[in-house]
Amino acid sequence: MKAAVVHDFTKPLRVEDVPKPEPGLGEVVIKIEASGLCHTDIHAAHGDWPVKPKLPLIPGHEGVGIVESVGQAVTEVQEGDRVAVPWLGYACGACEYCASGWETLCEKQLNTGYFLDGGHAEYSKAFAKYVGRVPEGIHPFEAAPLTCAGVTTYKALKVSGARPSDLVAVFGIGGLGHLALQYARIAGAAVVAVDLFDEKLKLARDLGAEYTVNAREQDPVEEIKKLGGADGVIATAVSPRAFEQGFGSLKRGGTLVFVGLPKDNAIQLPIFETVLNGIHVVGSIVGTRVDLQEVFELHAMGRTRVVHQERNLENVNEAIEEVEEGKVDARLVFDMGVKEPARQPEGVLTQEAEEPSEQPTGEVGEHRGPVPG
Ligand code: NAD
Ligand code: ZN
Ligand code: ZN
Repeated sequence: MKAAVVHDFTKPLRVEDVPKPEPGLGEVVIKIEASGLCHTDIHAAHGDWPVKPKLPLIPGHEGVGIVESVGQAVTEVQEGDRVAVPWLGYACGACEYCASGWETLCEKQLNTGYFLDGGHAEYSKAFAKYVGRVPEGIHPFEAAPLTCAGVTTYKALKVSGARPSDLVAVFGIGGLGHLALQYARIAGAAVVAVDLFDEKLKLARDLGAEYTVNAREQDPVEEIKKLGGADGVIATAVSPRAFEQGFGSLKRGGTLVFVGLPKDNAIQLPIFETVLNGIHVVGSIVGTRVDLQEVFELHAMGRTRVVHQERNLENVNEAIEEVEEGKVDARLVFDMGVKEPARQPEGVLTQEAEEPSEQPTGEVGEHRGPVPG
């Protein structure tokens, strides 16, 4: 089968023929239809993080497709089901984290497209207990970005504790950020979107953001303070500077959620202001199987819009460049043989997109431990 493979962190990926996987005990093999390109795949391909992935590696943790064969003792899904293979490829199911609804913190977890081969291939193998079921009516091109970008930002919003009447700032309007802002609005909050590119800010306004700030032209801290300060900040930008600005934008008692994972792995946080202002800083890593099901339900109800463009797997290296240069509208998805025509976007957010909106003036632990998607 054809797959995009990382052999060396300093070299481009190679699209090559590799053996098709066979399902083992509790496993399924999926014929991939669509596979989203998360910025994490780029970090994996470059070996950006303190914990390195296996090599050779087939990246991809937004793979969606049809179960082609099942191994022994699989009861969760059947041949012919449409499933999604998320970052949380396996967890032990028994530790204190797994048993208390925090399987994303399981120390025995295995991550798809990092320690397990992932979705940028014609077929992918997965543990049946950890695949997500894609409901009827969700197109594979939309299901794919929801499988990481969606579930991660949905969870981050939950972690932020955002409420109606809050102002939530989303730093970085890429694959993750374009969904983060929609979940913030579903929670009832007003949104200020921050990015470096005007096209991304236009997309944010189309998706309902009340305010936008181009951080190349304006100081986000100053602009967000003019609005009264943010109750919550979701930092998805691939830049430590954005995390510092996010911190500076908070109002007293506010919460900064770390989601993005820039290669430069440190920021400076002032102790005095954190204490005096009662600031919360929290990391948020993907989401559970239940979070993913909720994300799919919201989308099936027409409450979110997934903005994506399709690419061929042969062009994986060009696609990576496009994402790195900030040239894409939200998410790129590899078309691995989708049969249905893409659906016209619909749902409440599309209608609202017509209205013009106001703008301001302006551990990663031991090898095989939990690392982020
Ligand atoms: P992306 O490239 O699609 O989006 C990043 C966005 O940040 C782009 O729009 C870019 O223009 C913007 N940006 C860059 N520098 C900025 C700055 N200084 N200020 C404001 N905006 C800036 O990437 P993505 O797929 O959305 O992923 C974002 C990050 O989240 C990556 O580091 C990825 O590894 C990480 N991630 C984390 C989790 C998790 O569970 N915590 C899950 C998935 C991805
Ligand atoms: Zn566990
Ligand atoms: Zn991801």
